[in-house]
Amino acid sequence: MKVSEVIQAWGKILKGERPSLSIEITRECPLQCPGCYAYDDAHLGGGATLRSLSDRKGQELIDGVLEIADRLRPLHLSIVGGDPLVRHRELESMVPLLLERGIHVQVVTSAFRPLAASWAELAHFNVVVSIDGLQREHDIRRAPATYDRIMKNIAGQHVTIHCTVTGQMMKRPGYLKDFLVFWTPREEIRKVWFSLFTPQTGDDLPEMLGPEERAQAIADMLTLRKEFPKLDMPEGMIRQFTAPPSGPEECVFALTTQTLSADLETKIVPCQFGGNPDCGSCGCIASMGLAAVAAHKLGGVIPVGAIFRASIKIGQAWAKRTPPAPAVEEPFRILSGHDGGAA
Ligand code: SF4
Ligand code: SF4
Repeated sequence: MKVSEVIQAWGKILKGERPSLSIEITRECPLQCPGCYAYDDAHLGGGATLRSLSDRKGQELIDGVLEIADRLRPLHLSIVGGDPLVRHRELESMVPLLLERGIHVQVVTSAFRPLAASWAELAHFNVVVSIDGLQREHDIRRAPATYDRIMKNIAGQHVTIHCTVTGQMMKRPGYLKDFLVFWTPREEIRKVWFSLFTPQTGDDLPEMLGPEERAQAIADMLTLRKEFPKLDMPEGMIRQFTAPPSGPEECVFALTTQTLSADLETKIVPCQFGGNPDCGSCGCIASMGLAAVAAHKLGGVIPVGAIFRASIKIGQAWAKRTPPAPAVEEPFRILSGHDGGAA
């Protein structure tokens, strides 16, 4: 992250605003992936669930998202679901309108249907395709978004592959390398990101990584990033997986990102996972990316995280007293490859 981007994000935080926004634009998804946090009963706090919300379609959805963008003025918007490609016509209309506003836009999808041809060359725009491991495992977990279908649907595009590493994968030595060997030579693949599976507090799931598996995944990523340049994970980010935030109040990602669900009103807290996530086992690449930024010392002296956390307190106090401030024009171009999870 460049110093100028830190300052832009800092400016918004000081105004009591969050530089990053994530919206679940639909409650629908044709997949039923094991471990999906979006359809967990606790995702929205234990009352309503994603499927029980009333979502929008057509012009009503486009207008709703644009109204939020104009009101909250994020630097970065992550569009998730359900699977946002369920609303592909609306997406094709709204993405250029969001980009015109100077917002960096990211769509996170299973790629169960073809991506819009017009997306291939858009600037400040990223499509993240979620893949659950190698073909044999993925095709069982994520049908109908199988490997064959994904490769047809991303033809001619430039996408980021995001894989959430699970305990099952780490039981097979060399799994992450095999994954990179398959995906990175393809010209449609711009970069690859790994997250580690993040459980809810009290979960006991086969997707969870044991301590040795987590350590091995970190060691593998540190080695593989040198061999596979498309593995777009700086060393400082990968090392953050060794010491995830102790709670949401320590998580710069959660503190700087607002997440809304499919009615465009319900806030998902404390982060995109919702419920009561086990922060001590967090493996979210977006959280680790911002933790790495927070650990960076401006001028070699002051940690960015200390500035952000102090600024958040100032901004919260300020926001209670003042009307919204003018828009910030440049995009907050870091992250947020959240997933593991939704789409
Ligand atoms: S992103 Fe991870 S560390 Fe941050 S609040 Fe969510 S679970 Fe906790
Ligand atoms: S992980 Fe994504 S694609 Fe899979 S069921 Fe959940 S929302 Fe749908």
